[in-house]
Amino acid sequence: MRLVHATGELFPYIKTGGLADVAGAVTRALADYGHEVAAFLPGYRPVLEHPELARAETLFSFGIDMGSDFLKGEILTVKPRKNLTLYLVCRDEYFDRRYPYGRPDRDYEDNAERFIFFSKAVVEVLVRTAFKPDVVHCHDWQTALVPVLLRIEERRRAIEIAGKTVFTIHNLAFQGVYPNKVFGLTNLPAELLNIDGLEYYGQVNLLKGGILFSDVLTTVSPTYAREILTPQFGCGLDGVLSMRADDLVSVLNGIDAEVWNPQSDPHLPAAFSASNLKGKQACRRELLRRCGLGEDFEGPVFAMICRFTQQKGIEVLLETSDFFTSGDTRLIILGSGTAEYERQLAEFADAHRDSVYLGRKHDEELSHLIEAGSDFFLMPSIFEPCGLNQMYSQRYGTVPVVSRVGGLVDTVVDIDKSPGKGTGIHFLPNDPADFRRALERAVALFGDRKAMLEVIRRGMKKDFSWQTAVRGYEALYRKIL
Ligand code: ADP
Repeated sequence: MRLVHATGELFPYIKTGGLADVAGAVTRALADYGHEVAAFLPGYRPVLEHPELARAETLFSFGIDMGSDFLKGEILTVKPRKNLTLYLVCRDEYFDRRYPYGRPDRDYEDNAERFIFFSKAVVEVLVRTAFKPDVVHCHDWQTALVPVLLRIEERRRAIEIAGKTVFTIHNLAFQGVYPNKVFGLTNLPAELLNIDGLEYYGQVNLLKGGILFSDVLTTVSPTYAREILTPQFGCGLDGVLSMRADDLVSVLNGIDAEVWNPQSDPHLPAAFSASNLKGKQACRRELLRRCGLGEDFEGPVFAMICRFTQQKGIEVLLETSDFFTSGDTRLIILGSGTAEYERQLAEFADAHRDSVYLGRKHDEELSHLIEAGSDFFLMPSIFEPCGLNQMYSQRYGTVPVVSRVGGLVDTVVDIDKSPGKGTGIHFLPNDPADFRRALERAVALFGDRKAMLEVIRRGMKKDFSWQTAVRGYEALYRKIL
């Protein structure tokens, strides 16, 4: 098949979260399965500076209408592996920046313009190159306009640009909602700015466009697919999604088993596996040493790696913070996010330097060491479309302690609910008291070495590799063509 993926981030070139991991793994795997894959990505500065992309060549310069302006850009291409072509949409004014969407605490003011421009450029390339993809697969609000622009352009020019369109919602909380004047930049017919189109409570909602115009919608876990049809998790779009419920399917995310492999991970001081866990102890010591938490400490080490946002349950953690101050545990937190959460976490960590470490940065290498060296991985998310860390942690012999939402339900089996099958501990979302009980269960499990080892080994043996997910997308494409 000829496949197009359009995304705002793509591992290993640029990443802010799970979307990059998913888009990176799926495009590479589909190419390896013999499909012809074209991946579209904005040419952000770190992308252009990435050593693998140094050979990128200019394909053409172009100009497109953005409202009453005519804006120029360039398309660079490079083939990072067989069957995979990367199309980088470049315009310095928009994309020559270090971060894709903004600084950790604040989105760029011109994100609407930037991603409308990007989406238009994707359609422009498809028209100019006559690539004629069987499927155009778009991800999240950043590219939600592509299916809309594509079908309108086909109608305008009376041509066929692409077969089917697939739109994946990685996180419904981010919708690309902007003031109505932004609609003018799309040059779409005015009648699309109504309640049956992109309009949303007097504003423009880009994600809504993707939901309405794509042939098939997917999301990243079965539980989240059900949740987003409800007012509690629907982020105001449950009504629109319910109208399209028959076309909404889930494909559970996987993990890159090459990048996340404790037997060959270059970021770890020692390798380990389910049958030989000795190396995990070495990772634990190194982690504690690096974080200044005393490498000889023998109690349970808890860890958390995430964006510091409301979604990730930072408030639940803060409300339970006294649990980690007795000296009998260690807590390692890595991430960045809203200023207020960063401040509160820093205040907490500073007051308990002997038992709490806070790394306020994005650090891929440290994240691997944390996954390998801790005993329990905490995910107190309020909602979680899929989540990747709980899968990484199981593969690295670190027991996940997760709230009972979204993909966390689909990938972690509670040890008390299913003895003999359990790989982690569940608790109720947004419920500090239940989180505390879960932490106490974790400490009890840690104290029972035999039971702990069984849970660790069971988790390590689970197969979360991308193969299943990618085969799922492949089967979906075949079905709709
Ligand atoms: P989300 O996409 O909602 O942020 P996921 O769990 O799906 O959450 O994916 C987050 C990804 O980003 C994981 O690979 C996680 O390890 C990584 N990550 C998040 N924050 C950091 C950080 N500060 N340093 C390194 N990796 C991080």
